[in-house]
Formats: sequence, C-alpha cells, structure tokens
Amino acid sequence: MIPYGRQYLDEDDIAAVVAVLRSDYLTQGPAVPRFETALQACTGAQEAVAVQSATAALLIACRALGVGPGDVVWTSPITFVASANCARMCGAQVDFVDIDPTTFTMCPQHLAEKLAEAERQGRVPKVIIPVHMCGQSCAMADIHALAQRYGCRIIEDASHAIGGRYQDVPIGSCTYSDITVLSFHPVKIITTGEGGAALTNDADLAGHMRDLRSHGITRDPDACEDYHGPWYYEQYDLGYNSRLTDMQAALGCSQLRHLNAFIEARHALAERYDQALADLPVDIPYRRSDSYSAFHLYIIGLRGASPEQRQRLFTFMRAQGIGVHVHYIPVHLQPYYRRLGFAPGDFPQAERYYRTALTLPLFPQLSHAQQDQVIASLADGCHQEGL
Ligand SMILES: *Cc1c(COP(=O)(O)O)cnc(C)c1O
Repeated sequence: MIPYGRQYLDEDDIAAVVAVLRSDYLTQGPAVPRFETALQACTGAQEAVAVQSATAALLIACRALGVGPGDVVWTSPITFVASANCARMCGAQVDFVDIDPTTFTMCPQHLAEKLAEAERQGRVPKVIIPVHMCGQSCAMADIHALAQRYGCRIIEDASHAIGGRYQDVPIGSCTYSDITVLSFHPVKIITTGEGGAALTNDADLAGHMRDLRSHGITRDPDACEDYHGPWYYEQYDLGYNSRLTDMQAALGCSQLRHLNAFIEARHALAERYDQALADLPVDIPYRRSDSYSAFHLYIIGLRGASPEQRQRLFTFMRAQGIGVHVHYIPVHLQPYYRRLGFAPGDFPQAERYYRTALTLPLFPQLSHAQQDQVIASLADGCHQEGL
C-alpha cells in the first residue's frame, strides 16, 4: 500500500536518538531546550514549548489563554477533532466558522458576520483557532484584524504547516496570533514519533505553558509564595505531564535539518500532480498568492461526484494499493458534537467540501513511479464512475 503520508528518517536521525539513549538524560535533559531553540530559529517565534502532541499543545494553549467554563471557542469544521476538543477539555463551548470552499480554511467573511451576530448576543468567543489546512496559511491578516476588533485571542493550528510561509514570513512567527501549535506525528511534515509544540512571542504565556506541561508546578523561587529550601517547588495551577522525551526532542532537532528539502520535495510532487490531473474531472489545490504552503496534504475535489461515486472510487483505489484518504469528516457531524446540538446543514460549505474531497498520497519519498500509479488508478476510477 502506498500510504497517504509517511515519515522520512535517515541514519543521522537514528544516530541522534541512539546518542540520547546512551546519555544521562532520557527526559528533562538538554535535548528539549535545544529542540525548542531550533524551533524558534526556524519559525521566528521568541518562545517554543515542546510537548508530547499537538493535542497537548492546543490544550495548554487554551489553558494559558484562560479558556474555561462559560467561554466560547471557535474553530473550523474542516479539521482534525483535536482543534475543537481542546476547548471542550477546558470546559468551554465550541462553535465553528464555515470554510471558504476554495482554500478549505476558515472564511473571514463568515467570521465577520458571525462575530457581528455574536456581539449582538453577548457571546463573542474568547479564542479563535484557525487551521492552516494542508499546510497553507489561513487569511491571517483578516482574521487577526477581526479578532482585534472584537477582543478575541488567536491560536493558529499549524499542525500541517511547519515550513510554510505567509506574507513571506515563516508560519509559527505568531505575527497574527497569540500562540501557534505544531504537530510532529509521523504523517506530518517532520516527526518525533508523537510530539508537538506551542510557539509564542509572549514570555508570560510561554512560562505558564511550560508550567502546565509539568503539573502546574514552578521551581522559580521568585514566583513561589513560600520557600523551604533548594528542593522547594510549588504547584500553583492544575497541569499535566505533557513533556516530550529527550529521544523525541533529539529526533526533532535532527529532522529539522531536512525541513527545507521536505517542503521542496512536496512542492515538486504537488506540481507533478497538478500537471497530470489537468485532464481529469478534478479540482486541484488552490494556491493563495500570499502563501507558500508546506503541502502536508494534496486534496482534490471530485467534480460532480456523488457520495456513492466517491466511496466506490475510494474503495477501488484502496484495492489497488493506493492509500487515498479523506480529510476531514466535518467535526460538527461527529456524534459527540451532534449530542451538543450540532446538526447536518449547520456548515454547508464544509459539508459540501466533504462530499467530494479525496486526499492523494504525498510525502517526500514518494517516487515518480508510485505517483504515476496513483494517477493511473485515479484516472481508471474516474472513468469507471463515468466522471
Ligand atoms: C494532527 C493534527 C492535530 C493533532 O496532532 P497530534 O500531534 O496528533 O496531537 C491537531 N490538529 C490538526 C489540524 C492536525 O492535523
């Protein structure tokens, strides 16, 4: 099976992990701060807090921004469930802003209308979580301007997007947000096995997130209410153990060396798909002129396909060993969110997008021969379905 995404590790990546295994520290050693410094250098963010997943990063980000019961958080319905769950885990309510069908990301126009309505009802969200779907930035300048006007904070879910750029600045710089979250799951751009990070330019937010990563404990004598001796620490908040191990952080550091090559390889393959698919009944990914995508995912729209045709095409390609996928099932249609009151029809653009979306395999080591297999299989499948 040609998977839709897969990690690439070379011998140096493996050696970096082995070196940690032979060292004094498997966790809470020097590799994590080193990885954090490297993440700062590559994104331009002033602070980086490495954690065990993007899910954990989203959670500590919400907590650091004070999200709690009585608050509302908005995200995109076309994302992985974690972008919404983080708010629920803080006891807040979740709502969604429909997507722009061209970019698959949060539509600033819908956001503007929804914020105006929310203000009338006194239900303005505390935090907005735009998602850089497929690695291409949302319209952050527009979203940021609206957030400023209504007093909302912003967490960018950049789980797909390390290595991408917006307005010629690396994604993760937090130019238009309070916090940006990254994922290092093996299908994402770089990997640490499991892993994630929260980036920010706010030293106080970073300090709070660092403490939330480790049980809500501080060892800073200046921050403590009391002092009993050099062993002393204080728990001032309810935190977690979300720490990344040193093995993972060393892998992350080593993986960052490949970042530019990974993104370039993804772009070259994406352009090859664009050309090969020109004569097929599919919509190829739209490129924003102000963005350079990290191209985590190559998603096509099957023009005019019914849900049944998409399902048969999917099954046909899988049977041929092509690991096609669908990203994502609209979050508001998940049973958990339906029980909270969401229903089909709530976010029509997201639901329309979902009916015809298909993710084709894309990862740096995908060979041209494999890519040609994907294209041939897709062409056969479309033909069979009369598309
Ligand atoms: C993968 C992903 C996450 C969760 O990442 P983990 O590191 O697996 O927790 C969150 N949001 C989006 C958009 C993702 O794609």
